[in-house]
Amino acid sequence: MTSKTYRNYIKSAQTKEARTFDVIIIGSGTGGMSAASFLAQAGKRVLLLEQHYVLGGFTHTFERSGYIWDVGLHYVGQVHIEGSVLNKVFRYIAKDKLKWEPLDNIYDRAIFGDEEYQFPRGRDNLKAKLKAYFPEEKDRISIDQYFSLLDDAQNLGSGYYLEKTLPPMLSKIVGNFLRRSTLKVSDKTTLAALKEITDNVKLIGVLTAQYGDYGLTPAKSSFYMHALLANHYMEGAAYPVGGAAKIAECIIPIINESEGIALTLANVDEIIVEDNTATGVRMKDGEALYAKTIISAAGITNTYSHLLPEKVSKGHKLDKLLDELEPATAHVGLYVGLKESSTSLALKKCNYWIYPNQYDHDKGREEYKDFNATIPVSFVSFPSAKDPLAEKRRPDRSTAEVIMLVPYEWFTQWENTKWQKRDDEYKALKEKLAQQMLEQLYRIAPQLKGKIDYYEVSTPLSTRHFSQHKQGEIYGLAHSPKRFRQKFLRIHTPIKNLFLSGQDVMTASIAGGTMSGLLCASTVLKENLLWTVNKAIK
Ligand SMILES: Cc1cc2nc3c(=O)[nH]c(=O)nc-3n(C[C@H](O)[C@H](O)[C@H](O)COP(=O)(O)OP(=O)(O)OC[C@H]3O[C@@H](n4cnc5c(N)ncnc54)[C@H](O)[C@@H]3O)c2cc1C
Repeated sequence: MTSKTYRNYIKSAQTKEARTFDVIIIGSGTGGMSAASFLAQAGKRVLLLEQHYVLGGFTHTFERSGYIWDVGLHYVGQVHIEGSVLNKVFRYIAKDKLKWEPLDNIYDRAIFGDEEYQFPRGRDNLKAKLKAYFPEEKDRISIDQYFSLLDDAQNLGSGYYLEKTLPPMLSKIVGNFLRRSTLKVSDKTTLAALKEITDNVKLIGVLTAQYGDYGLTPAKSSFYMHALLANHYMEGAAYPVGGAAKIAECIIPIINESEGIALTLANVDEIIVEDNTATGVRMKDGEALYAKTIISAAGITNTYSHLLPEKVSKGHKLDKLLDELEPATAHVGLYVGLKESSTSLALKKCNYWIYPNQYDHDKGREEYKDFNATIPVSFVSFPSAKDPLAEKRRPDRSTAEVIMLVPYEWFTQWENTKWQKRDDEYKALKEKLAQQMLEQLYRIAPQLKGKIDYYEVSTPLSTRHFSQHKQGEIYGLAHSPKRFRQKFLRIHTPIKNLFLSGQDVMTASIAGGTMSGLLCASTVLKENLLWTVNKAIK
């Protein structure tokens, strides 16, 4: 991969010409990389700026003591299904270099107390499993109705997303019409939609056992988000061969082919706006870089609250728009290194959602008042088991990850302290969290007791430090019914030549981020890149 640090690049680019590009993209997550690849393949000279020391946003990986973990990619749906839109889009943006390894047929397992509910690949298989778990006639009918609701959401068409690419004037004319049918579904909470078909709390708990994938409990999340997620994983899931970092490894050379470049440690301080037109970016060290088109894929909160000059943001009342919405959940993570292979430890290529004996997710979260309360949900996965290259690279090692969803507010007392320089109280809290997460890990993999060689805990402050998401939010803006009503979550901004990409424009997930890049590049190029993809990838 050809990327440079910002400091090295700027030293060698002393003229304004050398600092001028066709497109500058802020943020190298899937939203930024996908837009960059499309634009580079259309011949644009792209500058991709990333404040972290590695590229990839939440798809970056990190290494400690010879172990490698991913951060924000555990499984992706659809990519492994030949001919699916996402499969074709990834083939296009990575020029067929990225390969995907399917997870086990049972790709998700939900554990409630002592009971396990399996999520198999395939619509009929899932339906049959659910009916076997809930054999009563009225539940079997509810399950059929549930699948009809998912189908209805799937068949809403692309009007809602098309509207996001329209220039504001056109959107004013046809926008409401294009959004109308989706809003009917997105206005309902997941719980409200499911309550129309069942009053079985246990069934609702199992149907929404993957709610951590969008971070909001059934009473708070939009049913549209739930349906998107459930449909996304209907045919199972896959993992990038070589790990999540392969995505950046495959895409960055494509940017280079059009004389563009990706820079790390490139912290953008401000988007330069003159006469309501974006003309470049000012870096933290005061240097300026220029382009005709600026794309922010750094998250909408970062863009409108921090990167735009205050006068511009306030002038367009963008600060007020954001006040209406809440950030998504924060999380703590445990990264575990094991000195034995995935095969010998019998680690499965699947994820686990672990619950106490509590099927009411809203109640579980409400009762999670502090670190001593019952953990409402945790997530466990084994990256080394999913990646076919992991064992070849490191034959005697394997990795595990545990995630718990926590409120950011529990960490605000350390907000203004520095990474790796925090006090003993913080360190003790991290150790307490580590022990809690290890306990969750041993619930589903007791064979790992005594095998742990290394572990490390991340907190919402780590997310804030490495990704700049100021409340440690892992999915951008919370996926509530209100979010889906917001017209300002779109590619165009009120500032000329400034566009948005990333999960806030579409929805959280690798798929959402990647498709936002397609919409963004389509808008900039004024061409439908889905047609381009369909023509290029048969
Ligand atoms: C713990 C976790 C687990 C997840 N698991 C999955 C999963 O299994 N499957 C799935 O589909 N999705 C998963 N997701 C969600 C998925 O990772 C995200 O929705 C998606 O990657 C978001 O992409 P993005 O490009 O919008 O944002 P990001 O990846 O956050 O990229 C934004 C980038 O902008 C950079 N940036 C911010 N400010 C500046 C600045 N001023 N200057 C320069 N750069 C800046 C940041 O450093 C960051 O790299 C997970 C997320 C997390 C956190």
